[in-house]
Amino acid sequence: MYTKKLKLNANFEKLTGNYLFATVSQKVKAYQTNHPHAPLYKLGIGDVSLPVAPVVAHALRQAATEMADIKTVQGYGDYEGLPSLRTAIAQRYGDFRLSPQEIFVTDGAKNSFNHLFELFDFDTVLMPDPVYPVYRDASLLKNKKIVYVHATPANHFLPLPSDIPPHATPHIIFLCSPNNPTGAVYTTAQLLLWVDYALSHKAVILFDGAYRDYIKDDSLPKSIYQIPDAKKCAIEICSFSKSDGFTGLRCGYVVIPQDLLIAQKSVNQLFVRYLATNTNGVSFVVQKAALAALSPEGQAYSDYCINLYMQNAHAMHTTLQSTQAIFVGGKNAPYLWLQSPAHLDGSSFFEQLLHNHGIITTPGAGFGTQGQSYIRLSAFGSATSTQQAVQMIAQYYT
Ligand code: PLP
Repeated sequence: MYTKKLKLNANFEKLTGNYLFATVSQKVKAYQTNHPHAPLYKLGIGDVSLPVAPVVAHALRQAATEMADIKTVQGYGDYEGLPSLRTAIAQRYGDFRLSPQEIFVTDGAKNSFNHLFELFDFDTVLMPDPVYPVYRDASLLKNKKIVYVHATPANHFLPLPSDIPPHATPHIIFLCSPNNPTGAVYTTAQLLLWVDYALSHKAVILFDGAYRDYIKDDSLPKSIYQIPDAKKCAIEICSFSKSDGFTGLRCGYVVIPQDLLIAQKSVNQLFVRYLATNTNGVSFVVQKAALAALSPEGQAYSDYCINLYMQNAHAMHTTLQSTQAIFVGGKNAPYLWLQSPAHLDGSSFFEQLLHNHGIITTPGAGFGTQGQSYIRLSAFGSATSTQQAVQMIAQYYT
């Protein structure tokens, strides 16, 4: 009789220490314990701080009432999402013409990457360094080989196919624009280079548009599908988290165009099949709330919140621009990526800002090797505290 011994997934050993944000929050908690009365300036973790729109709250209450009535209670819904929500999301793409069947509602962007990995048989992924750590950890847990393209001042923090190391043959390419952690945003011409690369190398782009609504400059692409032929090689992953305050409600969506074929087979159809086995869909109540977020009132409120966050980002941008600091972001993104002063690495700078001023930032090292001498600033704090904090940060560069 053959019995295989049960073992743990050894790939967990490849993950580095604690998840980045957990480590930061432990340090902040220790600081607070030691300085219970000191002010805290929150330029750290990327969670939104404003509540959901009144129209969203109303939709949540109404959907909860429907669930409590025998005439309107909802059971299992479509795995792919409410038809009305899929239609409303497809309409966001306007001239880029996507059908509701190409939209899949998810419970947020984070675990979409894991789901999408299941569609392909592949061994190599490409991602920027620094990177949103979830792409890296998801790839390591599935034992994928990772090729990094470095985001540095030399390429304006926007790596291009010309930055791919020689002989690398990525099958899956992660792109994120506006970028977390850098706040850099690709232009149409730059995304065109990535689409050309993916098409000619038969790779698939996973385009993370979680911050797409922070783009206010109309010349910058909000969607990969603004690039001709991107439907043949790209999947887009979006979220209601950062645009509509859904971090606690959990809703997002994945776009898989019908034109995306691998060996003449439809990736879209494969995902439909995958969902049937792996999910019973997203909560009806939350989907109704997401639908309300896409209504004219919901969108007006989303613009209002994003404008408030972006005022913080612009204040940081303007103050830092008047110094010698090297940084990127803060123009069409709620993040700034700031090189630490010459004599400090990013982690020491993080510690100094926390211990000397109570300013919480995120050390860049947690986002990759290229983050060693950087910190990330986020724009989700209050206006006064952000302005005060950036004045203190600016002093390190004069
Ligand atoms: N993608 C990026 C780049 C993010 O920064 C985040 C959250 O911080 C996510 C995806 C996850 O978003 P969600 O809340 O929809 O899971």
